[in-house]
Amino acid sequence: MKLRLPVALKLLGIFLVPASLTLLAFALLAHHRASQLLEDELGHRLTGVAASAARTIENDGLALLQPGDEETRTYRNVRRRLEELREAAGVARIYVFDERDLSVCDTTARPIGERDYGLSRSTAEIASARQGRPTSSVLFSGGDGQLYKSAFAHVPDGAFVVGVDGAAPMYEQLATLRSTLLRTGVAGVLLVALLALVAGGLIVTPVRKLARAALRIGRGDLDAIVRRTSRDEIGDVAETLEQMRQLLRARDERTQMMLAGIAHEVRNPLGGLQLYAGLLREDLEGQPEQLAHVKKVERELEHLKNIVSDFLEYARRPRPALVAIDGATLAAELLPLVESGEVEIVTDIEAGVTLSADAGQLRRALLNLLGNAVQASCAGQRVTLTMRAAQDGTRIEVRDEGAGMPEALVEKIWAPFFTTKQKGTGLGLAFTREIVQDHGGTIEVTSTVGAGTTFTIVLPRGGGGTLH
Ligand code: ADP
Ligand code: MG
Repeated sequence: MKLRLPVALKLLGIFLVPASLTLLAFALLAHHRASQLLEDELGHRLTGVAASAARTIENDGLALLQPGDEETRTYRNVRRRLEELREAAGVARIYVFDERDLSVCDTTARPIGERDYGLSRSTAEIASARQGRPTSSVLFSGGDGQLYKSAFAHVPDGAFVVGVDGAAPMYEQLATLRSTLLRTGVAGVLLVALLALVAGGLIVTPVRKLARAALRIGRGDLDAIVRRTSRDEIGDVAETLEQMRQLLRARDERTQMMLAGIAHEVRNPLGGLQLYAGLLREDLEGQPEQLAHVKKVERELEHLKNIVSDFLEYARRPRPALVAIDGATLAAELLPLVESGEVEIVTDIEAGVTLSADAGQLRRALLNLLGNAVQASCAGQRVTLTMRAAQDGTRIEVRDEGAGMPEALVEKIWAPFFTTKQKGTGLGLAFTREIVQDHGGTIEVTSTVGAGTTFTIVLPRGGGGTLH
C-alpha cells in the first residue's frame, strides 16, 4: 500500500526541516563564537594578572630562596603579595617556579623546590613567557572537575616564571546562553510547525470542498452551484468544475428533450396502428389463424405503448414541486390502484406523518414499488406499506413476502429496460430512483430469496429536495 502523506504533513516537512537545520546551525555558531570570545577574554585577564604578579615580586629576592626557607621573611613576603593579588584578581592560584620547573612560591603552599608536574602540559606557553611574551594556555580540567586556564609571565630580573590558574566561570554564562538559544529555537520550530499546519489547512479545506462537489456532480446531482471561494488556483478549479456542471446539465436537458421528442413521435403512429389492428381483427372474425396473428400484433403494440408512455412520463417529468403530503391520505389514494384481490395489501402509517414531495411523482414512484411487490407475490401473501417519521426525514417502506431476488439480480434492477417479466418495461425502478433522487432522498433495497423484498425510501424533511 502506498503511504498517504497529507498536504499539511508535507508542508511541515518542507518548512520544518530547513528551519530546524538553520536554527541549529545558528545556535551552534553562536555558542561556539560566544565561548571563543569568553575564553579569549579569560586568557587576557589571566595573562594580565600573571604579568602584574611578576612585576610585584620582581625585587623580592626570589633567587635567595632555597628548599626549607618557607618560614623566612622573604618567602612570607612573596607569598603574602601573591595571596593578596590572588584574592584581588579572583583567580584560583598564583605560583612562581624556576627554569627547571621547581616551585619557588605557591599560594597553594607547595614546598620550595618541589616539581610541579602540571606544568608539563603548558611547556610551549611557558617557553613563550620566558622569552618575554606572557601567554595563556588552553582550557584544562582541574582536580575538582571544573575547567581552568593558566597564564604565564616571566619575572624580568631572573629566570622565574609566574603562573596564574583561573577557573572558567564563563561556563555558567554559556549555559544561560544555551538555554536561551534552546528556548528560542524550540519556539521558532513550533511557530514554523504551526504556520505549516495553518497553511496546510488553508489549502486542504477548499480542496476537500471541491472533492465533495465533484462527487456530487459525478452522482448526477447537477443542481448545486459550485462557488468560487478564492482568487487562486483552487478558485480556478472551482470555476472549471462549475463550468463542467453547467455543460453536463445542458447536455442532460438536451438528451431528455430528445428522448421525449422521439417517444412522442413514436406514440402518435402507435395509436393509428392500434386502431387499424382493431379494424383488421373485426374483419378477420371467423378466420382463427389470421386472427391469432393480429392479436399478437395488438399485444406487442400494447407493450410498446406502455414503454413509450412510461418513458414519456419520465422524460417529461418536471422538477418536483414540493408540497406537504399527508401520509395516510396518500396511502388511501394508492391502495385501490394496486389492489389485486389475491394479494393482501396492508398499511402501517404513523399518525400525522407528512411527506415533503411532488404529489404526482411520489405517487408514481410508490405505485411502481407496490406494483412490483404485488407482481412478486403469490396469492395469500401480504404487501405492507409503512411510513414513519425518521431522524433524517420520512421513511417509506414497501415490503413483500414474495419470491425475493438473489444478489446478482439486485445489482441489475435499477438499470433502465432491465426486466425479468415477459411484459415488463424495466423502467419502473430506474424512474423511481430518479424521482427519489430529484427529491434529495435515497432508496435502498434488501431482498432474501424465498422470504421477500423490502424497498426503503428516505425523503428529507421539508424543502430538502433539490431546489430548481
Ligand atoms: P418491471 O417491473 O417492468 O420489470 P422494474 O424496473 O419495476 O421493471 O423492475 C425491474 C426488475 O426488478 C423486475 O423485473 C424484477 O425482476 C425485479 N423486482 C422489482 N421489484 C421486485 C420485488 N418486489 N420482488 C422481486 N423482484 C423485484
Ligand atoms: Mg415495475
